[in-house]
Amino acid sequence: MSASLPIKPATSAFLDRAPTMLIGADWTGAADGALMDLRNPATGAVLCQVPSAGAADVDRAVRAARQAFDDSPWSRMRPRERQNLLWKLADLMERDADLLAELECLNNGKSAAVARVMDVQLGIDFLRYMAGWATKIEGASVEVSMPLMPNDDFHGFIRREAVGVVGAIVAWNFPLLLACWKLGPALATGCSVVLKPADETPLSALKLAELVLEAGYPAGVFNVVTGTGVNAGAALTHHPLVDKLTFTGSTAVGKEIGKAAMDHMTRVTLELGGKSPTIVMADADLASAAAGAAQAIFFNQGQVCCAGSRLYVQRKHFDNVVADIAGIANGMKLGNGLDPSVDMGPLISARQQQRVYNYIELGREKGATVACGGEQFGPGYFVKPTVLVDVDQQSPVVQEEIFGPVLVAMPFDDIDEVVRLANDSPYGLGASIWSNDLGAVHRMIPRIKSGSVWVNCHSALDPALPFGGYKLSGVGREMGAAAIEHYTELKSVLIRL
Ligand code: NAD
Repeated sequence: MSASLPIKPATSAFLDRAPTMLIGADWTGAADGALMDLRNPATGAVLCQVPSAGAADVDRAVRAARQAFDDSPWSRMRPRERQNLLWKLADLMERDADLLAELECLNNGKSAAVARVMDVQLGIDFLRYMAGWATKIEGASVEVSMPLMPNDDFHGFIRREAVGVVGAIVAWNFPLLLACWKLGPALATGCSVVLKPADETPLSALKLAELVLEAGYPAGVFNVVTGTGVNAGAALTHHPLVDKLTFTGSTAVGKEIGKAAMDHMTRVTLELGGKSPTIVMADADLASAAAGAAQAIFFNQGQVCCAGSRLYVQRKHFDNVVADIAGIANGMKLGNGLDPSVDMGPLISARQQQRVYNYIELGREKGATVACGGEQFGPGYFVKPTVLVDVDQQSPVVQEEIFGPVLVAMPFDDIDEVVRLANDSPYGLGASIWSNDLGAVHRMIPRIKSGSVWVNCHSALDPALPFGGYKLSGVGREMGAAAIEHYTELKSVLIRL
């Protein structure tokens, strides 16, 4: 494995600068000087150090955001100017796209080539989509009845106003894209933001912060605090001057954040875990379904909230489809994401590698057969793409989110059975149906309990389509008009004429 592949001079220069946090207009370390190591998951080696923020740093950042929202050129900016700034930011991301992709690769382990066309490009497209919303935020004019004042005239209207200071906390699997999902609607609506990237992957967010300043956003509109969840994340969650929390991460932490938000009635949206089913009907184009199912689970090393991690195949084709997926898995080249010929990179950390491998072992103990993969190796945090068969629907490997390249596969006989199995999960983020029977597909869609249903594709996201979860997969939606609703408050106004 090539652990020392060359990186671009701009990427080296960024790392050599020893990236610091952006609070207001200041690039700064933590008040107490604390630092934390970042590792390259492909090698396990330390990549660089970043500040490890504490409550005092978070407080400074929230106050900078408060000031920017309450009283600054930002608070007086017209929608057209907000639109143009977002567009400018997207242009700067496009200019520095290769650097951003390489940072994602070094910090997360994912393929730099894939990060360029997926993570970075989707982030750019999303910001441009949200730029369009800045000029389309509308209230309503209402004809009121006011029965207690029948002789008076009134003008009633509803304003949609920016929610205020947004505390954004994100996971490590798509560091830049998740940051853009928070930043886009916040900046379109006129909010200010304090972002706490994941402990493991703050680098692309720090580069994004540089671009935000270069685009011309006033100081304090976007602040980035790097640090751990228990210190920086918790301090942001509990801060009384935050108006809205938006979180992407595990269901366990999401529950804590949701409960803490209620102390101050902070608005909150939660994008959480998943265990999404891929359903292959007997009439499907089976070759395309097998390729799609493999992509659904193995993309991004399986570290995708809506990964198709449970596969249900109509019984007569079960063995063939599983064999095809195992063939695809066995043909995948694992290695350093800087190498463009690599199909799968490492997992994010030694801890995640061990967690995923423990699930494979647990599956074996519960009677599962390993159809392919089932091994881990280093240096770096690699787990081979794995398919488990002979699994029971109630087994932990079927019910719990593994968040790695591990697929559990089960046969089914009819539609009623597969709908019941698909819904037999505490999660409800996504589901895909592979079939050409339009009638059957349309009858299944309303019965599937998940925030997204894809037909003949999986994890296919568009900025215009709301994304979020039923059940333990979350509260609220990102993207589309729904995102704008979550970053705004309604104010009813009644004028007695
Ligand atoms: P995590 O919950 O451990 O961490 C997510 C973020 O929360 C990190 O920034 C972390 O520092 C912070 N955090 C941790 N403890 C905290 C606390 N007590 N208070 C405040 N913040 C805290 O999740 P992870 O392991 O980084 O990410 C994987 C999870 O994210 C998976 O469950 C995955 O499904 C989910 N995810 C969901 C979506 C979605 O859109 N639904 C997208 C990506 C990832």
